[in-house]
Amino acid sequence: MKINILTLFPEMLAPLQQSMLGRAVENGILEIDVTDIREYTEDKHRRVDDTPYGGGAGMVMQVQPILDAYNAKGYGGEFIYMSPRGEVLSGELAKELSEKEEITILCGHYEGVDQRLLDMLGAREISIGDYVLTGGELPAMVLIDTLARFAPGVLPKEESVMNESIYSGLLEYPQYSRPAVFNDMEVPEVLLSGDHGAVDLWRLEQSLALTKEKRPDLFEKYLASEPNLSKKERAVLEKVLSDSPEQLE
Ligand code: SAM
Repeated sequence: MKINILTLFPEMLAPLQQSMLGRAVENGILEIDVTDIREYTEDKHRRVDDTPYGGGAGMVMQVQPILDAYNAKGYGGEFIYMSPRGEVLSGELAKELSEKEEITILCGHYEGVDQRLLDMLGAREISIGDYVLTGGELPAMVLIDTLARFAPGVLPKEESVMNESIYSGLLEYPQYSRPAVFNDMEVPEVLLSGDHGAVDLWRLEQSLALTKEKRPDLFEKYLASEPNLSKKERAVLEKVLSDSPEQLE
């Protein structure tokens, strides 16, 4: 998958070279191409923005440098503008985008971007939540990290995105690692038992209880989906349903 990024601040995207995303790029699973829009301005002072028609505070990113950068680099695929006006990012949206061969992401700044550029390139606006950041680089990185986890080969073979919180329909159970006792705090005994069936049931119970407590909206959705549970799993669900919040561990 090829991901193109148009930005005024390429240095802000350095984290994309780290950790799993960095490895995915090194291994040729992802191709990430970053373009500094300012390199394409025709203004002798290297300006890329101007005041808004109609007045008002702030500056607006102009069409020319962005369009010239886009064309000169031969960018294509779905054109995305990170924007608080956009559809809010979700797992489903990330999965949909991860199936594209190429996407181009525009990071805005100041008051945003001249609408004509967005219209010309048929921009799909995507928001990472109902709050406003100073620029589109952090939102672009959130989007890329989220969708890259769905791209085949980015996560190690044994890890599945669908087993994680939210995507599985439930929040994830608590995780523990060595040592078995730390400052008198013990790892739950069942996890040391070697009984995989008992571990699975404990994890299911924890996931159900956490989801019921912290995300009742997700819990309702899970129940409405009529999950396919074994007899033992159903008994766990019945127990969680009958527990009041104070009784949950
Ligand atoms: N004047 C714009 C408005 O009210 O919609 C906000 C501009 S914001 C200060 C500057 C840039 O940050 C935006 O063009 C966008 O690229 C990015 N941005 C800010 N908040 C965002 C969010 N919640 N999701 C995605 N991008 C965001």
